[in-house]
Amino acid sequence: AEPRLVAVRAAPVSPRLVLLVLRDITERERVEEMRRDFVANTSHELKTPVGAVSLLAEAIESAADDPAQVRYFSGRMQAEIQRLSALTNRILSLSRLQASDELRDVRDVSIDEVVTAAIESHTIQADSAQVTVVRGGVKGLWVRGEPQILTEAVGNLIANAIAYSPQGSKVGVGVKLDEDVVEIAVTDRGIGIPESDQHRVFERFYRADQARSRRTGGTGLGLSIVKHAVQRHGGEVRLWSRPERGSTFTIRLPRTEAPDLDLVRPKARR
Ligand code: ADP
Repeated sequence: AEPRLVAVRAAPVSPRLVLLVLRDITERERVEEMRRDFVANTSHELKTPVGAVSLLAEAIESAADDPAQVRYFSGRMQAEIQRLSALTNRILSLSRLQASDELRDVRDVSIDEVVTAAIESHTIQADSAQVTVVRGGVKGLWVRGEPQILTEAVGNLIANAIAYSPQGSKVGVGVKLDEDVVEIAVTDRGIGIPESDQHRVFERFYRADQARSRRTGGTGLGLSIVKHAVQRHGGEVRLWSRPERGSTFTIRLPRTEAPDLDLVRPKARR
């Protein structure tokens, strides 16, 4: 059948509706483009450690008669495998945060517990970098959200603060209340971030000063996870930084009332 041009004069379509539909299509295209970029970048980033593991396997095979060399190559292989596993974990976290609109397991979350867990999971890194993590500020604040996601976000900031700090320095994790917003600030006296990079460090796979960042063995996904995690919780991340002076990353989250713990915890007996 021939296509026909039919003039339909039903209810007039408001220009606003047309605009909304158009916006919806461009938004879908944007999401699709982001997804394609993500897959492309991810595959690219995975290729490097996978290639290294494969080369190291060959090196081990050809050094079979020399135990010292075998030990050396297998040590390096383990390091690459660890990197690969950290990278896949982060890719999974990020794609989960980007995929679903809803948080899965929302509850009252104690900021004290989030900070404790985030610091504890980085004690090995801090010890081996000889960096001291000090904690301060207000206690007893609560937010609504998913504890694991929030702990991962704070943990990523702590990991960076340690990674980009000199030996013997201190990293601070402070909590305070700004009106109805809970602020968790992670401060370091490390290398800092040039102003021109500051708005880009939250992008996936973006790393300021490639050469130096590469040595820290990061993935370029940490801050992107932080940003998405915090946005999912209705919050925002702020950054203050000066090269050679250090950086402060601040997570800001809407505060919620402390739950009535008497309901869940039996009162202490007198
Ligand atoms: P990475 O795994 O490379 O640390 P992130 O997404 O966590 O990836 O950070 C992106 C980039 O931002 C880093 O490569 C680094 O250049 C810069 N950066 C992040 N945190 C800090 C910090 N505390 N001090 C200096 N630079 C930082």
